[in-house]
Amino acid sequence: NRLANQIAAGEVVERPASVVKELLENSLDAGARRVTVEVESGGVKLIRIRDDGYGIGQNDLALALSRHATSKISELEDLEGVATLGFRGEALASVSSVSRLTLTSNVEGQESGWQVRTEGRDMEAIVNPAPHPIGTTLEVKDLFFNTPARRKFLRTEKTEFSHLEEVVKRLALSRFDVGFTLRHNQRSIHQLRPANTQAEKDRRVASLCSPKFIENAVIVDVEASGLKLWGWVGLPTFSRSSADLQYFFVNGRVIRDKLVAHAVRQAYRDVLYGGRHPTFVLYLELDPSMVDVNVHPTKHEVRFRDGRTVHNFLFSTLHRALGEVTP
Ligand code: ADP
Ligand code: MG
Repeated sequence: NRLANQIAAGEVVERPASVVKELLENSLDAGARRVTVEVESGGVKLIRIRDDGYGIGQNDLALALSRHATSKISELEDLEGVATLGFRGEALASVSSVSRLTLTSNVEGQESGWQVRTEGRDMEAIVNPAPHPIGTTLEVKDLFFNTPARRKFLRTEKTEFSHLEEVVKRLALSRFDVGFTLRHNQRSIHQLRPANTQAEKDRRVASLCSPKFIENAVIVDVEASGLKLWGWVGLPTFSRSSADLQYFFVNGRVIRDKLVAHAVRQAYRDVLYGGRHPTFVLYLELDPSMVDVNVHPTKHEVRFRDGRTVHNFLFSTLHRALGEVTP
């Protein structure tokens, strides 16, 4: 069982960033309005994630760490659901098998919080009372301390942290309604309050991406025949080697897709002679039945039912938006 968990961990947990992704997705699934991520040494020494979601009750604490224990089975029915499920009950089990993990949580109507700890080995569920507000704190220490082979694949603290920050960034760009805090080695990296108005959203994107990007961006917000595209596209006055500033979300999940990339590039090339590097943070919303999200959650791929319509919509919307502000 321990071996099975560690094998599964090989799939789920590649590096600190993958831990943060799984844990943050759990927090968001639990309805958190605010999440705090504190890490030390690029996340290798410590990852601590605190949320104000609905929490885990005393009786479910140990279960949450066991393999294939998911409270989200009902959602397995629909395809979209599968994609949002991560590895379906394997994440916490996997992380706990390759780290020193402490899970503390409290739910409405319980007298105190409760805590469970593991150290890489199979869970012997010792659950102790521990004060905690409603919500959950996951502490993951010494990642891969018992799997030296995996540990060897970790890069420098700086590189690991930049992967981790990218994960937080993508989630913060996909959930404006949630507050995010990120700290590294006691230093505040991002402090993002929930953003509701356009100005607040502008501010979040500015602080995550770059103030220059927002200063020189066109705001897009167009809806037509069941497709909605909103967000920001950068003007060429903002130039940056730009692969790092291309975010495209489909129904809230970040994706990389050839059809999307092509439509965007073509709109840029058409309007801005010569085609500078496009920079954008864009959100496409459409009926979930019109898009297949790849069931492998680490591949950010999609397949549109009607690719041509999507392509035309993206191209014409961006073409118009860029055209309006370009002499
Ligand atoms: P999955 O998310 O696929 O169900 P995980 O291993 O990530 O599997 O989590 C196992 C279970 O632990 C979840 O189904 C959920 O019930 C519970 N859980 C994990 N993290 C949290 C959290 N932050 N708040 C509330 N419940 C959580
Ligand atoms: Mg999960």
